[in-house]
Amino acid sequence: MDFVSYDDHKTSWKTYRAACWAVHPQQGDPATDVDWDRHEEESLDACLIELRRRQIMFQGHRWTCRKCHHRNWVDLATLASELSCQVCKQPAQAPVAGATVDFFALDASGTRSVLIGSGLTNASGQYRAVLPDVPAPAN
Ligand SMILES: [Zn+2]
Repeated sequence: MDFVSYDDHKTSWKTYRAACWAVHPQQGDPATDVDWDRHEEESLDACLIELRRRQIMFQGHRWTCRKCHHRNWVDLATLASELSCQVCKQPAQAPVAGATVDFFALDASGTRSVLIGSGLTNASGQYRAVLPDVPAPAN
């Protein structure tokens, strides 16, 4: 079974569109009140939904068990917030793609907080956040 991530689909679609427009340049003057490039870019989702509906493509979550390193796959229909390795039954949490992870710092009293950074999760639930350097966090 081949696995292709959504990000890879998006990258391939972008590359394909660029190559197609290079070979077949724009003819005439398209309406300017519509963002045609964005419309075409977003048509990928509709295409993937139709492939999924026809069961040509299956959507799910692939993850590697941290304990036994088995590569698990969970179909979208059975995806739950807590996963279990198919081999060793090790529990794991499902990722949250597109979620914002916020970081707050508490003041000395611990009653007030301030947002110091945030990161957006990718399809694997990973995020990157740049936090300010605090020379003396106790102050
Ligand atoms: Zn396992």
